[in-house]
Amino acid sequence: MGQSPHITVAPPIADDLAAAIGNTPLIRLRRASEATGCAILAKAEFMNPGGSVKDRAALAILRDAERRGLLKPGGTVVEGTAGNTGIGLTLVGNARGYRTIIVMPETQSQEKIDTLRMIGADLRLVPAKPFRDPGNYVHVSRRLAEETDAVWANQFDNLANREAHRLTTGPEIWHQSHGRIDAFTCACGTGGTLAGVSLALKHRDPAIRIVLADPEGSGLYGWVTSGDLSITGSSITEGIGQSRVPGNLEGAPIDDAVRIPDAEALEQVFDLLIHEGLSVGGSSGINVAAAIRVAKDLGPGHTVVTVLCDSGNRYQSKLFNPAFLQSKGLPVPPWLSA
Ligand code: PMP
Repeated sequence: MGQSPHITVAPPIADDLAAAIGNTPLIRLRRASEATGCAILAKAEFMNPGGSVKDRAALAILRDAERRGLLKPGGTVVEGTAGNTGIGLTLVGNARGYRTIIVMPETQSQEKIDTLRMIGADLRLVPAKPFRDPGNYVHVSRRLAEETDAVWANQFDNLANREAHRLTTGPEIWHQSHGRIDAFTCACGTGGTLAGVSLALKHRDPAIRIVLADPEGSGLYGWVTSGDLSITGSSITEGIGQSRVPGNLEGAPIDDAVRIPDAEALEQVFDLLIHEGLSVGGSSGINVAAAIRVAKDLGPGHTVVTVLCDSGNRYQSKLFNPAFLQSKGLPVPPWLSA
C-alpha cells in the first residue's frame, strides 16, 4: 500500500517543556529561492514553545546552573534581556520550579512586556542606556542577582548559550540539509546562535561561509569587516545589534558581514507573511535579506541557510502598526494602510 503524502511520522511524546524545545523545521523560502536561483532555507525558531530561538539558550543556561549546583527548585534566576531570553527562562523556570526576575529596557515591544507579565516573570523595566552606563539593563540585572543572592543567567558571556546552538541548532541544520550548505547568515544579539551554529558547521565543513547579518546602529559589521566597532544609524529591530563583542561571539569563525537597513529587512518580513504565510519579526527579516544578498553573491545553484528568530505577533504594535512605521519613515504595506 502506497503511503499518502499526508502521513507523517510524529515525534515521540515529549516528557516536559524542555523536551519540546528545538528540532524545529527547516523551511524552504520559496520567493527568496526563486529570486536568487538558490535554495534559501530558514530554521523556524519561532516554533519553539516560548516563541523564539532563545528558548534553547535559556534551557542550556538553566541546565548548566543546575549541573554546577547553583540552582535548586525554589531558586531565583535574574537576567537582563530584550525579552525573548526572559520569556524562555521564565517558561522553563516555571516548569522546573524557579522564580525569574527579568530586567528589560522599556523601549522593547509592548507584546514582550505583556507576555513576560502574563507568564509570571517579576519584570523590572529600566530606561534604555548604552552599555557603558551603569544603568544599562545588563548591569542592573548583574547587581540585582548579586544583591539577592540569585543566579545571574548572563547570556552575553555565559558560554552555555552558544553551546546550546553548537550542540543542537547547528547539528539540526546540518542533518536537515544533508550537509549541503554553502553559507549561513545570522544576526547577533548575544552571538550565541551565530557562534554556536558557526562552530558546528565549520567543524563539519570549513568551506561553509558564515556571514554576520547586522542592523544599522550596530558596531559588529565594522568589527568584522575592518576591526572597528564604531556605529552609524539606528534600527527598529529588537534583540540584535551590539556596541561591543559579547563573550559568546569571541573566537567564533565569521567570514564576512552585511549591513541591512530596516526597509530592506521589513520588505522580507512583509513578503514572507503575505506570500508564504510566515509571520516573523524584524531580526528574521534582517537574516533573510542577508541570505538573499549572499545567495546573489554566490550565484545560482547554492544553498544558503538562515534563522527565523521569532514571530511577528511579538511586534504587532510596531512593525505592523501604520502609525509606528510612518513615524520611522518606513513604508506601510497595502493591507495595513486601509
Ligand atoms: N532575534 C531576536 C528577536 C532576539 O530576541 C535575539 C536575542 N536577543 C536574537 C535574534 C539574537 O540571538 P542571539 O542572542 O543568539 O545572538
